[in-house]
Amino acid sequence: MVLRPPSGGVFRFDPGTLWLDLLVSGGPGELSVFETLHAPADLAAWAALSRLRLDPAQVRVSQGELAAGKRLRDGLWELARALIHHDPVRPELTSLVDEAAAPPSLAPRLRGAPGGFRREWTLPATGTQLLSSVARDVIDVLSGPHADRVRECGGHRCGLVFLDTSRPGSRRWCAMQRCGNRSKVRALRERRAPDAR
Ligand SMILES: [Zn+2]
Repeated sequence: MVLRPPSGGVFRFDPGTLWLDLLVSGGPGELSVFETLHAPADLAAWAALSRLRLDPAQVRVSQGELAAGKRLRDGLWELARALIHHDPVRPELTSLVDEAAAPPSLAPRLRGAPGGFRREWTLPATGTQLLSSVARDVIDVLSGPHADRVRECGGHRCGLVFLDTSRPGSRRWCAMQRCGNRSKVRALRERRAPDAR
């Protein structure tokens, strides 16, 4: 995803999986400055930016689905933080995911030809289908081999969350060209002038 934080700059960030893509759309509390979901069409716009790459004109989102999407996303922030800090997960969060996952999700379809098959999503689709796909991804990830790989970027005051799908499980940064490099510069500066912070 291409991010344009309020603090300026543009960078590419791959959260590693669909449900963590949703966290990029904003969040509760202090994250509300990053809110991008103001109207139903904004959830369709997120679906276009996410790894689903849906045509936003073909995703129909109601006012109720927008509210459900924000509720799910804010719950997923809490879930992600619980996982990162090895805290227990409130049963209400599990129920929130289960309820969103219950209706039919986006339907995959096979396109292309042998040697070049690709998966596409059947459109038009509804906000409910979209949220079901997000919630089912939570269940797939947390019941799969990367369940303990939800991580927070190690960058100073960054807070972006990703699924570390690297083979050695050593991913530390949201993006090397952002927090990775900044952290290197910080470390260098602190080594040169340990008293001047
Ligand atoms: Zn970062």
